[in-house]
Amino acid sequence: MRTIDLSGKTALITGVANQRSLAWAIGDALGEAGCQLAFTYQGERLHKNVTELAKKYPDAPILSCDVNSTEQIDGVFSAIEKRLGGRLDIMVHSIAFARKEDLEGDFRKTTRDGWRTAMEISAYSLVSLTKRAVPLMEKTGGSIMALSFLASQRVFHNYNVMGSAKAALEHAVRQLAFELGPKNIRVNTISAGPVNTLSARGIKGFSNMATLHREKAPLGRNIEPSEVGDAGLFLASPMSTGITGHTLYVDAGYNIMGI
Ligand code: NAD
Repeated sequence: MRTIDLSGKTALITGVANQRSLAWAIGDALGEAGCQLAFTYQGERLHKNVTELAKKYPDAPILSCDVNSTEQIDGVFSAIEKRLGGRLDIMVHSIAFARKEDLEGDFRKTTRDGWRTAMEISAYSLVSLTKRAVPLMEKTGGSIMALSFLASQRVFHNYNVMGSAKAALEHAVRQLAFELGPKNIRVNTISAGPVNTLSARGIKGFSNMATLHREKAPLGRNIEPSEVGDAGLFLASPMSTGITGHTLYVDAGYNIMGI
């Protein structure tokens, strides 16, 4: 019988805010498969949540990382180098942010600052984290994954600058997949359907959008965070060694639909 066993592997999970976070769904799936985990959290506000959730994995380092801070990113990688035995097999990028005023109204009114904030936090951070992950992955290969949304390709009301950031993120995934293929480091995207998380609630009209999604998706429902977790487990595992630079839709099939 084939099963996914990640014992002996290590993973860095970014972007856990609470138990609804897609990062937690993936981290928990990897953890239940025996993977040694490390978590990052953004700011003291979320430290308590992550510590509480991570009690399930008592050996997991819990590290502060605001991706706006180069020092904090460097700190995370020097800590995991020491605490995970000098190697990293898997990295999950599950980070996005745009200012509230840039997630509603006219896209053409996006300010330079708003554009830069969304792009840096939601897309550039993948590049910056990957640069530091590579030295820990290159001996044995690795799997990196990022979370995206169909607004990278299509227009969704109020996604505005986040659509631009997801387009940049998906391009970065392909570029990194090309560059890191010779090191046997795979880089993929999971494009998830709408899930009611802390970030999602920041998008005006999100619940209406989730309802429309459910009505139109071939499976006739919204997805569960655990389904993103399972897809993450697949991308992290030896079951997906032939897959890189790919966008894997976990959206109940919504992306195939026309009108
Ligand atoms: P979430 O709010 O649980 O997670 C977002 C995370 O981003 C939080 O942990 C937050 O702390 C982190 N973050 C924001 N700014 C940061 C910064 N400066 N430094 C470090 N971390 C920062 O919401 P989520 O829905 O689980 O989002 C995770 C990913 O999934 C995001 O990339 C999001 O765009 C993507 N996604 C979400 C949905 C959805 O409907 N929820 C759908 C598709 C893709």
